Amino acid sequence: MSGDGWIPTVCYQCKAECAILARVEGGVVKEVKGNPRARGKACVKGMAGITSLYSNERLKYPMKRVGERGSGEFERITWDEAMDIMETKLTELRDRGEAHKFTYSMFPHSVTDPKWRFVNACGGFISTGLPHCDSAKIMAHMHTFGCFPNHHIAPMYYAVPKGGLMILSGRHPFGCLDDACVPSHILDAKERGAKLIVIDPIFRAEAAKADWWIPIKPGGDAALFLGVSNYLLANDLYDKEFCDKWVQEGDMDGLKAHLKDMTPEAMSKICGVPAGDIIKLARMAAEAPSACIDAFKSIMYGNGMDWGHAWSIFLVITGNLDNPGGQPLPEIAPMAPVEPVPPAPDVTELGYHRTGPDRSQFDSYKFFLQPTWYAAQAIKDDTLKVFFASECNPALSEMGSGEWRKAVTMKDENGDYKLELLVVTEIMPSETMKWADLVLPDQTNFERWEMLYMPWWYNYGHCAALCQPVVEPIGESRHANRVFIDLGKRMFPEYFAFKDDVDYYDIELAGVGMSVKKLQENGGLWSPGTVGFRKYEDAGKFNTPSGKIELKWNMYKDIGREWPSPELPLEYRRGEDEFPFVLVNFRTIYLNNTGAWSQNNAQLRDPVSGLDANPCLLNPIDAERLGVKSGDVVTMESNSGQVKLPVELTEKIIPGCAGIIHGFGQTMGKVACRGSWVSDNELISDAGTTLDEQDLRGGEAHVTTRVRIYK
Ligand code: SF4
Repeated sequence: MSGDGWIPTVCYQCKAECAILARVEGGVVKEVKGNPRARGKACVKGMAGITSLYSNERLKYPMKRVGERGSGEFERITWDEAMDIMETKLTELRDRGEAHKFTYSMFPHSVTDPKWRFVNACGGFISTGLPHCDSAKIMAHMHTFGCFPNHHIAPMYYAVPKGGLMILSGRHPFGCLDDACVPSHILDAKERGAKLIVIDPIFRAEAAKADWWIPIKPGGDAALFLGVSNYLLANDLYDKEFCDKWVQEGDMDGLKAHLKDMTPEAMSKICGVPAGDIIKLARMAAEAPSACIDAFKSIMYGNGMDWGHAWSIFLVITGNLDNPGGQPLPEIAPMAPVEPVPPAPDVTELGYHRTGPDRSQFDSYKFFLQPTWYAAQAIKDDTLKVFFASECNPALSEMGSGEWRKAVTMKDENGDYKLELLVVTEIMPSETMKWADLVLPDQTNFERWEMLYMPWWYNYGHCAALCQPVVEPIGESRHANRVFIDLGKRMFPEYFAFKDDVDYYDIELAGVGMSVKKLQENGGLWSPGTVGFRKYEDAGKFNTPSGKIELKWNMYKDIGREWPSPELPLEYRRGEDEFPFVLVNFRTIYLNNTGAWSQNNAQLRDPVSGLDANPCLLNPIDAERLGVKSGDVVTMESNSGQVKLPVELTEKIIPGCAGIIHGFGQTMGKVACRGSWVSDNELISDAGTTLDEQDLRGGEAHVTTRVRIYK
């Protein structure tokens, strides 16, 4: 412990992982603020982290289930007992030759995360939020430019020049999961004369600050930008010099042929944006010194892959790759491997899309993590036997969460649970914990060691930040990384020969000439201080097989997906008569939405200073048709479930859409389950029922569904 004063550490109230300073007095955290060495910002959710640290709902001891799964009945056990239970079951699984039926769902902070190492040593798999949230963008950019960004590689808003275009498409950086610096950087860029364009069916804080709000049909982003690209090419408004130099031979001709009929007029019919506005957007992009797109929600639609492809094409033909104000390409810091490195299991052979029913089609889809993987489906198929979860909350956050809950309670002919062990690490009571066999009390960012290495880190590009304990831990809590290092030492000593977590991070940091101690002396951060621009020029190539930008995706030739389709997600194109509304779920600054860290935070879940309600947002035009008014309680029903919730009328949502906040509906935790608010995932289909379609389209319908509404 470093004593009193302002101590650098990292915020973990959301996955943006902002570097912060914590003010400690007499061994108590009193205040946090952004670390000035990392642009110095913390958001309201980050500041409320202290409330989580000292919440009287903190889980303090390991616990074992004593009732049926879902009853939420537990008894206290020792850490040794907990470790024995996990070791025994995982050893049994390996002895049965079924190590690959172990999955750990978590958010690894880097490929060097010790939990990932543990899973590899076991022969199991990890599943992260990435396949749900980001795979379409990651895959699109990897296929086209050969780089690996994720949603934390936002455009560098601090580098957007005067006149540059900042386009947010289904992205709410002022309200969720984004580095706390991003909103101020966007507003600063606007001050410098950059333009903010918000494309969204909902008018939220970003739209209020925008120069132009473009309301759009949900899922219409691909059509909109294909229409823009059609106009740019047809009118010679694209960056010919860039394309001639860097795009793979033949691809521009192929693109022109593919886009020939995707005129602004034709695309307008699909996305609902007037053709004149599509042309206006195209002309603005052609005239601006830079243009960037940031998207998140729209990438989680069932047509996310098409949208990612259309987005990549737009960036290329406007020459906005790795330039100030365009799409940054990442740099990777050479962290040192901790030898010997356990080999990863063969994803394609053992786990890759093992829940996808049509391998012959889906084998064309390549991803380094398990894509389109759903626990409920895998439990039913007997391909998932042991499931661990850290920093995620599938009982609430998985699409079709009702199916997840059903699956974890399914029994075999002997009366045993089909899923043999479910382990959850959590800081506070979570929905997933209610179904767990073992609950392990985790530590907040104020109590733990963790080296956060983030090649995509917004503030500094490639950077390492130190999360260090600034106060004594509460109860017997232990950070999940330490737990699985200790379990690794028991089970696979050859791969866990280092002393402890700090020693492990020291070995990794040696790759960049750093150590935990040097990070402490360095204000908690290491970064070369630059992200660089147009790195492909120095390299003389892109990191694709051809060394050029590959607009045409030849790897999908067999399934006819070389070029993007402008169609809306399939889930929106059918059932319109029965389910006339499109559900639009969105996030807010007050909730983390997935893990329980911020869900049970009394400061954030408060009717006055925080957020305590998720009404159904409806446009007054629709409300009149339905005969409902603000405050009426309605039933919202999809083909997979129904919820009841009050209505709030607003013109901030387009007609035909119904908006609710993602992340409500808990039945665990005194704070989070106050009120009768509902979960959007009760309405979204379990992926097992729509997997074929999603696989073939390449995206994942994480947020797409149609609903009907009645009083
Ligand atoms: S954006 Fe996330 S990580 Fe950053 S201060 Fe806010 S809650 Fe913390």
